[in-house]
Amino acid sequence: MSLETVTRVDVLVAGGAVAGLCAAIAARRRGVSVRLVEAAPREMRGGNTRHARNFRIAHDGPARYVPDGYREDEFLADLLRVTEGDTDEPLARCLIRGSAGIAPWLADNGVVLQALDRGVLPYSRRTAFLAGGGKAMINALYATAESLGVSVSYEAELTSLRFGPYGCTAEIVRAGAPECVNSKAVVVATGGHQADLRRLRTDFGEAGDRMVVRGTPYATGHGIDLLVDAGAMPVGDPRSAHLVAVDARGPRFDGGIVTRITGIPYGIVVDRTGRRLADERADMRRTHYAQWGPRIAACPGAIAYLILDQDGLRRTSPTALSPVTAPTLAELARRLEIDPAALDATVQDFNRAATEREPATRPIKIAPLAAWPLLPGLTFTHFGVAVDLRMHVVLRNGRPIENVFIAGTAMAANVLRRGYLAGLGVTLAAVSGRIAGEEAARAAA
Ligand SMILES: Cc1cc2nc3c(=O)[nH]c(=O)nc-3n(C[C@H](O)[C@H](O)[C@H](O)COP(=O)(O)OP(=O)(O)OC[C@H]3O[C@@H](n4cnc5c(N)ncnc54)[C@H](O)[C@@H]3O)c2cc1C
Repeated sequence: MSLETVTRVDVLVAGGAVAGLCAAIAARRRGVSVRLVEAAPREMRGGNTRHARNFRIAHDGPARYVPDGYREDEFLADLLRVTEGDTDEPLARCLIRGSAGIAPWLADNGVVLQALDRGVLPYSRRTAFLAGGGKAMINALYATAESLGVSVSYEAELTSLRFGPYGCTAEIVRAGAPECVNSKAVVVATGGHQADLRRLRTDFGEAGDRMVVRGTPYATGHGIDLLVDAGAMPVGDPRSAHLVAVDARGPRFDGGIVTRITGIPYGIVVDRTGRRLADERADMRRTHYAQWGPRIAACPGAIAYLILDQDGLRRTSPTALSPVTAPTLAELARRLEIDPAALDATVQDFNRAATEREPATRPIKIAPLAAWPLLPGLTFTHFGVAVDLRMHVVLRNGRPIENVFIAGTAMAANVLRRGYLAGLGVTLAAVSGRIAGEEAARAAA
């Protein structure tokens, strides 16, 4: 006889970050009973969303939290540019249209947006900033979900899922104990698989062992695996990822935005043999840093070093950890364990070019010198499960599953299989979560 507890609910939502919370709230507001299971303990709830700052929205005119306008066609053009057209365009249009209403919807559900005349965050007509960041958004959405009567379980992991025309059966392991949840519909919003270290090794080789996971350790991709094993169509490439340069001395997980190193255009980046990786000033756009993660991953030992002099240091943003400093280049090389002669030759080459050919570039010469060791920091992988416009999971035979939905990073690869746009992650998650919740409630009713 099995001792497993059996419970019943209209809609089960797996994953308690922005996508799952939007789904749970949207479903509950349609009058069905909702259970949300989050793998993390309460104090770690909210996945990668805890680290987010802003989200991208289409809007025709200024609002309290965004100036000017950013039309849907501009948003789509930006997406087509960064993805080089490799996107599900009808779905992208649907999500972009949904972005136009998502800021007021989040605000109605307790999320506070940064007013334009407050705070120190950069001006952006394309994105709205979250007052208090992603953590504050997560706290607000949990408070709203619970006040509406969504039943929330922490340390509760979706470990198996079966579905058929008459309902779904999920196994949840909660604080070590299995529970069987029967529901009329399920929303899977369990994020990406970037925290599965074994798979990083398989997909990225030795560089995978050195990758720093910038967000939650709970995004192991189990939700995606369950659906793919059950016949869902995978989309994207697990070996394609958003990778940035992060401080090698930061934590393996959850370093968030404070360990990212953005001062690259003010110095030079070398590998451990002292060789420069690329032209640090070739691309100064705000998203240029996403090109550096893959370059660092390709270095020997998947490690590199940003080297600056006092002039460069003055121009970079503050960092969480102080740089390694030294009075001379030889001493800096010794501290970083780089061959001093090779580093000296690289810096001399750079300085010669800077003074002779590129007068706008400043040579590296004002001591003391400073350096940050850099590792590839993984934000998310471009991999997930196919959906239709109502966020139904789509099977390999092209048919949607009527009562199983997917939202957030787990479906983002339908529209984002390469590249990135600032603020896109939260938008895709919130909009797809809201749609999935409404559709799951409809299916359950
Ligand atoms: C450092 C950093 C900064 C970022 N900054 C921004 C930004 O400023 N703007 C932006 O738009 N995007 C940003 N992003 C990306 C953005 O955070 C994500 O795209 C978005 O939050 C994804 O939301 P999600 O709900 O799909 O998944 P996640 O936030 O990753 O959450 C997944 C959730 O599922 C839970 N879970 C996992 N497996 C299971 C399971 N089997 N059972 C139950 N629960 C499970 C996890 O505990 C977690 O709570 C950033 C990401 C990082 C890492």
